[in-house]
Amino acid sequence: MSELTSQSLVKLCKSIKEKKVSSTEVTKAFIERSEKSKTLNAYITTDFENALTKAKQFDEKPNLDLKLPGIPIAVKDLFCTKNVKTTAGSKILQSFTPTYESTVTDNLWNAGGILLGKLNCDEFAMGSSNETSYYGNVQNPIDENLVPGGSSGGSASAVAAQLTPITIGTDTGGSIRQPASFTGTVGLKPTYGSCSRYGIVAFASSLDQAGPMSQNVEDCALLHEVISTFDKKDSTSINFKRNNYLQELTKNIKGKKIGIPKEYRVEGMPKEIEDLWQKGIDHIKDCGAEVVDISLPHTSYALPTYYIVAPAEASSNLARYDGVKYGFRAEGKNLIDMYEKTRSEGFGAEVQRRIMIGTYVLSSGYYDAYYLKAQKVRKLIKNDFDEAYKQVDAILTPSTPSSAFKIGEKKDDPVSMYLNDIFTVPVNLAGLPGISIPAGHDAKGYPLGLQIIGKAFDEQNILNIAYAMEEKIGFKNNITDWWIK
Ligand code: GLN
Repeated sequence: MSELTSQSLVKLCKSIKEKKVSSTEVTKAFIERSEKSKTLNAYITTDFENALTKAKQFDEKPNLDLKLPGIPIAVKDLFCTKNVKTTAGSKILQSFTPTYESTVTDNLWNAGGILLGKLNCDEFAMGSSNETSYYGNVQNPIDENLVPGGSSGGSASAVAAQLTPITIGTDTGGSIRQPASFTGTVGLKPTYGSCSRYGIVAFASSLDQAGPMSQNVEDCALLHEVISTFDKKDSTSINFKRNNYLQELTKNIKGKKIGIPKEYRVEGMPKEIEDLWQKGIDHIKDCGAEVVDISLPHTSYALPTYYIVAPAEASSNLARYDGVKYGFRAEGKNLIDMYEKTRSEGFGAEVQRRIMIGTYVLSSGYYDAYYLKAQKVRKLIKNDFDEAYKQVDAILTPSTPSSAFKIGEKKDDPVSMYLNDIFTVPVNLAGLPGISIPAGHDAKGYPLGLQIIGKAFDEQNILNIAYAMEEKIGFKNNITDWWIK
């Protein structure tokens, strides 16, 4: 393992600022390791030559006041990057090169970051295993037979395998937190409205949020600080006072009240997850926080609600891919035939399933029965959290109901795939922030994560709790570099 690629983001920034190492050296190290790691299939597109040019430019005129001084970063291929192909994991966007930059990635480059490439993901971020990607599945660096989770599977794999010091993903129902949990990494889904959605390929607009993924909590705090900005270009971006998340990070969580929701003890939950949760509760108490039993009564409705709201919004968002405006086009006898062929050849099975469900629940006669009803239940789920937060400062739950599963194991069973997000989806429906931190291993030695859910805009608080717990847990990832030949 190269010494440089195993360093945390915070350390790398320090070394560059102290001129102990150059941006070119760091960038080269990550490129070399990425090139040796092709079997993981973490990248869809690499931009290594440009990255090296930019690193050299940085070193010639280094601006050491920047928060990410000359740091190479690969990002999920759902963020539009100017002049760099952006596929969203779909065939329909295989030849789409944006003419604009997403605000979140723009923030990275303005802070001194350098684009390494675009990371694999489930098609239009629909999936929990990265197996819906048109560009093939991604391997989990923990074990070659395991999925890395999804939809930000390439991102999680790349961070865990040290192909990039940090990355950004998106989370509509769990796509940052679940893959973080499966790979032993940290992933934060910020409050809805905290990170701009401008230039992110839309899946379900009322749920989508970008967020940081990293090796540890400090790196996550620093990256969140860089990407969370108010943006006029996103009408749902919120102008609130953001913290200096890294500077204000503290392990002192004495007296904090942490809720344990009884409804998250779902039927059939493996004992390992129960035990992990209990250990987490013990750690929280050790940190001087107080644990309070709470109830979130509408939890069991979250998944069915999500699978109405998300496909409804997706079906509307994906209407724009018609073979005319973007990317792929199939030949057709006439305009309608061209639309039909383009969409049936350009979209994969899972995306087509969502479009059909979404169109159905929005159709006349069914809108009230499904979509409107789902929106009402969504409000009840949000009310549950509001009620709970009258008593507690944050909530602790497992991140996922199991550890990473085998490639192919759930591919043909969409419902069992959807169940992966049982603990993460309520957070998106309520627009709240949630962070997953690695918290232990199962009997097979695969990582397991715990989730800390916060009040809206209270990212600092959940980062602090995560920071305190991280120290108590002392997690070590069992990664052996098996894929490097
Ligand atoms: N796995 C969920 C889905 O397929 C969530 C995906 C996401 O958060 N982008 O919808």
